[in-house]
Order: sequence, then structure tokens, then C-alpha cells
Amino acid sequence: MVANTSIKANLHSVLQRINIACLKANRDPNQVKLLLATKTVHPDNIILALNEGQKLIGENKVQEIKQKHDALKNIPHEKHFIGHLQTNKIKDVLKYDVSCIQSLDRLKLAEHLHEGLSRATRKVDVLIQVNTSGEQSKFGIHPAEAIDFIKKVAGFNTLRIKGLMTIGIFSGEENKVRQCFKTLRSIQEEVKSENMHNVWMDELSMGMSSDLEVAIEEGATIIRVGTAIFGIRKYSDSYYWNENES
Ligand SMILES: *Cc1c(COP(=O)(O)O)cnc(C)c1O
Repeated sequence: MVANTSIKANLHSVLQRINIACLKANRDPNQVKLLLATKTVHPDNIILALNEGQKLIGENKVQEIKQKHDALKNIPHEKHFIGHLQTNKIKDVLKYDVSCIQSLDRLKLAEHLHEGLSRATRKVDVLIQVNTSGEQSKFGIHPAEAIDFIKKVAGFNTLRIKGLMTIGIFSGEENKVRQCFKTLRSIQEEVKSENMHNVWMDELSMGMSSDLEVAIEEGATIIRVGTAIFGIRKYSDSYYWNENES
């Protein structure tokens, strides 16, 4: 576990990075939401960040949402789902007050979500996850298929399509990373121009610990930050992004 003081200091340096990036990009910092990526993070440390004024967390696994639920239930915050969602976990994800599923990436998932939500007479916000990096290990719709996919998902009136999400390529070459974010933004613009019913497209969730500045320059409205705030995780991310987990 990371010491409390360093989490606070880390959080404030991330907020500073956001401010500087916004200044450079001539953007209002209030237009960029910070989502705390809290996979593997102990509830005590999440609470620490929430008590510093943070409001939004993102979890990758339904199991972790369950485990942390009691500890976090009295602390005001909003919860997004940012991991690979298996259809057999939908019931649980809806039970635990997840306000947005950022990782909608296949029709079968949309269909099952719609079924569960219809039964509960509820709606949920979703982002469409796009695989802008071409890396096999990441989920998401292929950019060329995104528009058609969004048209289909827009047919489910329980799903409010609020925008797009992507994980940038892991690369030291800034141009390659930037290209991923540019791709996401151009899909956003294309979808907007189609004026689809049930589609808002205001949110671009992109940028993590190592590339948040580039993402902000390219128009991110939500950045998802874990490591830079909570420290290095014990498990590799492939464990969280892999299909064969429980
Ligand atoms: C873990 C994770 C993040 C945060 O990554 P860091 O590099 O730790 O900031 C962002 N998005 C998703 C989908 C994640 O799984």
C-alpha cells in the first residue's frame, strides 16, 4: 500500500498536470473530469482521494465493486465501469449503481444490458469503446466499424450513448499515442454529424497516467488515472484486460 501522504501529493500533482495541459491547449480545466482508476486499490486509499474532493471512480471488475461496496457506500461518489464486461456479470453491475459503462464493445453486451434494464425499467449511460491502437490485447470496436455499431446500439432506448472511450497505444512515441486520440475524436465528429437519436457524443474518455496531456490536447473530457495517483499495481494490466478472467 502507498502511504497516505504520497497519495495526496500524487493526486495534487496530477491535478496540476491537468491544469497545465488545459492551459497549453487553451481549454477550461472544468471540462476535463478526472476518473480515479481504482482497480486493486484498497478502499481506505480510495476514500482518501474522495475526501480530497474527487467524485468519480472507475472499476474494471464487478468482483472488486462488490468487495469495496460496503466500505465506500457512505462516501458520496459516482462509479463507472471501465473493464471488460462479461454478459453473466450484467445483473451485478446494474445492482451496484454503476452510472456509466465505458466499455460497451459488442452487440451481444448491448442486447443483454437492454434486457436487464428493460426489466428494471431503468436506463444507463454508456460509452462505446473503440480499439484505436490495433493492439490485439485490447478490447473495443474497430474504428471502421464504429459508426455502424453505434447506429445499432442507438436502437436500444435504455442505453444513453454519451460518447466514446479508448485506451491509447502503449508507446514511447508521442505521435502514435496522439494518433489514437485523434482517431477517437474524428469518430466523435462523424457520429455527431449524423444526428442520431439517443446519441449525445459529448464525452471522450481517453488518457491515462502516462498520456493524459496528449489526450487533453486532443479533446479528452474524461481522463482515467490510476498509477500516477495510487502507485504501481501488483498485477499486470493484461490480467484486467484479458478475456479469461473470472
Ligand atoms: C487501469 C486503467 C486505467 C488507468 O491506467 P494507469 O496507467 O494506471 O493510469 C485507465 N483505463 C483503464 C481502462 C484501465 O484499466
